[in-house]
Amino acid sequence: MVSKILIANRGEIALRIVRACKELGIPCVAVHSTADDNAMHVRMADEAICIGPPQSATSYLSIPAIISACNVTKADAVHPGYGFLSENADFAQVLEDHDITFIGPRSEHINLMGDKIAAKQTMASLGIDCVPGSDGPVADASQAAKIAGDIGYPVLIKAAAGGGGRGIKIARSAGEIDQAFATAAAEAMVAFGDDALYVEKYLQRPRHIEIQVFGDGAGKAVHLGERDCSLQRRHQKVFEETPSPCINDDTRHEIGSRCANAVAAISYSGAGTVEFLYEDGKFYFIEMNTRLQVEHPITESVYGVDLVHEQIRVAAGQPMSFVQEELCIRGHSIEVRINAESFPSFAACPGTVSAFHSPGGPGVRTDSALYSGYRIPPHYDSLIGKVIVHASDRRATLAKLNQALDELIVDGIDSTVELFQLLLNEPDILEGNYNIHWLEGWLSGK
Ligand code: ADP
Repeated sequence: MVSKILIANRGEIALRIVRACKELGIPCVAVHSTADDNAMHVRMADEAICIGPPQSATSYLSIPAIISACNVTKADAVHPGYGFLSENADFAQVLEDHDITFIGPRSEHINLMGDKIAAKQTMASLGIDCVPGSDGPVADASQAAKIAGDIGYPVLIKAAAGGGGRGIKIARSAGEIDQAFATAAAEAMVAFGDDALYVEKYLQRPRHIEIQVFGDGAGKAVHLGERDCSLQRRHQKVFEETPSPCINDDTRHEIGSRCANAVAAISYSGAGTVEFLYEDGKFYFIEMNTRLQVEHPITESVYGVDLVHEQIRVAAGQPMSFVQEELCIRGHSIEVRINAESFPSFAACPGTVSAFHSPGGPGVRTDSALYSGYRIPPHYDSLIGKVIVHASDRRATLAKLNQALDELIVDGIDSTVELFQLLLNEPDILEGNYNIHWLEGWLSGK
């Protein structure tokens, strides 16, 4: 049973979860820092409680503050959204210890997949291929150089605790290993408090293909196809689509079933994403995210499901509402991430939004917590909204996206809308002909 949900997040995802709670008739509580007094998620939730000062470390990332907020508001479940505490196994465990339901997988699975080295070992043991590289953590630069010599340059040095594209450095030759190792370790220590590193072969022209999975926690799991998230800047996704222009029904069925079977084998509970690099017809596992992804709406569009409703349902101990045979794709969907950043410098530019108008019409969804007059605080991620479009095929979806971006008004601050308007004139994008390095190459010409 879940009778009141506390949403341990902010911004568009907190609002997304508020909507789901209200649709399901479950009271919800917003938490907020002092910088977010006027945030939309706070206005829309049934109750709101301040959990600390603007800095995330002492508010949205503070486990004691969130547990106290649950006690004060009598919330018996927590939805973590993405980012912040969503992949923190200690948080899930502390909630469990307090008899509060964590709307997500069990802490043991968060722990297992949170360590990317352990995740690769687990997936390999479940029959899923990984990017060639070190079998475990590498102790120092000379061990990394030895492995790189064996698998061949270029290689990536990656943080075991990594996330958000941080702690990833490339070494193109033996002469670059020392520097790459030292910078990756330093970055990982600052970002994650853990400088364990591993080595992976650097793939030259893969696509990033991820499989959405969902488990009932009792050994049953389904997949909901793939998302192609190959358009990236600094290893961070900016544009996602499903189906992928390079995956056919047979391939989807094959890789999707393998992923669903793998998570079923560990009795995984709730939403998860198995991420791969895909090159020359082969999938190489890179990591699993044990939470809802930013780009989940495109999967919802083509499968006609609500993943947040489903997360809440399964966390409340009910069976999954869908079975694999019923899940079929209808049409095509694309999401673009709009950031409060100047283009083409990508410098963050928080400030006051003087006017905001979201695009509309059939098949157009805007997930954003902006409103006219809202002051974007400088303390958080620069994502201010996502435009998601859905149409019968890829061509029609691109046309719809073009129109939606023309209608979108975000005045008073700079945003990355122009990036997408330019991309929609690029033949490679129109033809679906891009890999994970395409966007960086294109931007270097700007
Ligand atoms: P994070 O957890 O920080 O997001 P990932 O391991 O998921 O890190 O990788 C993020 C992105 O970095 C991938 O989507 C891909 O673009 C790039 N990347 C990761 N591993 C490799 C690799 N072995 N070769 C080439 N690019 C890679």
